[in-house]
Amino acid sequence: MNEMTIAGIRLNPHVAALPPYNAGMNIAVARKLSGHDEIAALASNENPHGCSPKVAAALAGLDPSRYADPACVALRAALSAKLDVAPERIVVGNGSEEMIAAICRAALQPGASVVTVSPGFGLHEIEALANGARVVKVPMAKDLGFDIDAIVASMAEKPAIIFLSSPSNPVGPALDHAALSRILAAVPKETLFVLDEAYFEFTDGDTPDGLEALRDTGLSHVVLRTFSKAYGLAGLRVGYAVASDERLARTMTSAKTPFNVNAAAQIAAVAALEDEEWMRRSVAAVKAERERMAAAIAAMGLFAPKSQTNFLFLDVRRDSQAAMEHFLSEGIIIKPWKEKGFETFVRVTVGSPADNDRFLAALERLLKA
Ligand SMILES: *Cc1c(COP(=O)(O)O)cnc(C)c1O
Repeated sequence: MNEMTIAGIRLNPHVAALPPYNAGMNIAVARKLSGHDEIAALASNENPHGCSPKVAAALAGLDPSRYADPACVALRAALSAKLDVAPERIVVGNGSEEMIAAICRAALQPGASVVTVSPGFGLHEIEALANGARVVKVPMAKDLGFDIDAIVASMAEKPAIIFLSSPSNPVGPALDHAALSRILAAVPKETLFVLDEAYFEFTDGDTPDGLEALRDTGLSHVVLRTFSKAYGLAGLRVGYAVASDERLARTMTSAKTPFNVNAAAQIAAVAALEDEEWMRRSVAAVKAERERMAAAIAAMGLFAPKSQTNFLFLDVRRDSQAAMEHFLSEGIIIKPWKEKGFETFVRVTVGSPADNDRFLAALERLLKA
């Protein structure tokens, strides 16, 4: 890799050459660009119901002058009880995305290879590249389901890490029991299996729970979950990793900054876990809206793979950037996909019923344009 110098400073060439992360547009920016006050923010898979009222109540006890607990003891204890996993195997992050970075920093050496899928979650590639790894992207199948044969074949070169998000971001489907078992049987002992379950709470009943599926495999693994989606705490940044082994968790802990999870995030996450009933009701409402939107999109003759998440990935059959601009002109933010081969796809979050109606009406106008 070429050396990179800026104003006499030699930069880390892996970091200097990273592609940008394709983040959803900020609401204030969208207001300015579109001239609309009421923005339907459907690009970042946030919870349209906000979060449990118990979270706001708990945050009243926040003391901003004190450092937060660097070990997140109360939150890890609550997660340990919920998941039936020793707290020593749990690492809490400033969002689960920080845990993706910590895994790469802990487990990669320059020249290592990392396997993931395409289309896929940007950070699974970006954090691997940042640590000097070579990234192998296995294309999803023609119907945009996971290509199990190809994923199994990719294990032949014994990558340092395989990252899979199931349910898939951006596509939506989840691995079923048989597919996950086939992949796990092919993962070599020297490969760290990372299952990113950011959308676990939105799956249907017969989807495997990654923690259970991995428990007795003997594979080194990490399962990632987050409070950003189902629990509605995206702005506070809190997610977690469950590692197969305490030493792996300790190394990930060394790979992050010590006070990575702020005090508000810790208080909010503990309170959110004390009101799972709120989360379940919210998720049920989102899933009902997801099916309503999927049916409306199918009735327009567009392809959108079946989703087990809080978003839909659809082929709008025209340039995704132009489609994004059309929606933005109506005050709606969606995410245009940019990965090669998927430039006519957009990802839309399942929002409130009113915002979803706005999206569907704007989609009909886009198709007529
Ligand atoms: C949203 C998301 C995350 C990151 O969520 P955080 O807000 O950082 O907890 C991780 N993985 C996938 C696949 C996601 O979609």
